[in-house]
Amino acid sequence: MPELPEVETVARDLHRWVAGAQIVDAEVRWDRTIRHPLPPERFVAEVRGAVIQRVGRRAKSVLLHLADGRVMTVALRMTGALVVARPGTPDDRYARVVFRLADGRELRYRDVRKFGRIGLFEGGSLRVRRASGRAAPGARRRRGAVREPRAPYRVGDVFAKHGPEPLSPSFSAQRLADRLRGRSARLKTLLLDQSFIAGVGNIYADEALWQARLNPLRPADTLSAEEVRRLHRSIRKVLRLGITNRGASFSDYVGADGEPGENAERLAVYRRSGAPCLRCGRPIQRLVIGQRSSHFCPHCQPAWSPRAPAAAGSCGP
Ligand SMILES: [Zn+2]
Repeated sequence: MPELPEVETVARDLHRWVAGAQIVDAEVRWDRTIRHPLPPERFVAEVRGAVIQRVGRRAKSVLLHLADGRVMTVALRMTGALVVARPGTPDDRYARVVFRLADGRELRYRDVRKFGRIGLFEGGSLRVRRASGRAAPGARRRRGAVREPRAPYRVGDVFAKHGPEPLSPSFSAQRLADRLRGRSARLKTLLLDQSFIAGVGNIYADEALWQARLNPLRPADTLSAEEVRRLHRSIRKVLRLGITNRGASFSDYVGADGEPGENAERLAVYRRSGAPCLRCGRPIQRLVIGQRSSHFCPHCQPAWSPRAPAAAGSCGP
């Protein structure tokens, strides 16, 4: 599943290719790919004529900012990909939505397993709201009650439950410390929680914890100030490195140009169980936490016990 660096890579590539392009028509071949507005015919009618101003990212979604202020969100999920096809390119049986551009090219949303979702929303702030993880407006309804669509449904509502962007300048070590306070969850579980921090998944959570020399099972509220700073630095470092290497490619993920990313070969622990730790040479171990496998070095990321608070690892920096 693509994480922040993979989605950022897709968004940056796509920006180069489709910024300024006009969508003249769209074809929805798999109705459930469309999240909003519904039915899909309405989505097609509303997207027709739109000009793509720029392409960005929020959490694990690609955002196509339209010139009129609306935003199209593309959640790639497991196998989604955005491909720009020149005129004459053979059709793709896995293309679920096809946007025809005024210059004859097609922007194809291809998705083998069909978990991805595309929405078209009114614009608005994407900033993280102060309110704690409450459900988005209209998310809950009484049984049998007719759900009235909130008009206009803004893009901010889509991301209301997401935590801060870890690479944003406002995501400081202090902000991370504030968010960790009072949280008894294990570090690995918390890093995967999109309402805690946006965009981090299994790969980069494992990499960040190894980099920070923190055990994945460590309760979040037991970190010393120095350990929080280390975790903060490490999260940002592994994500930036992932973007530099154009993302890690496992299974179906490819960049928008169809080229696989290079980061998979440069990961320190993810899917390296049994291989020597790049820091101490001892074997990397695999552990299942919350049904997700975690990869870590038991020597560099020692287990924490309440009786030995903040024991410094014996590894070098
Ligand atoms: Zn090690």
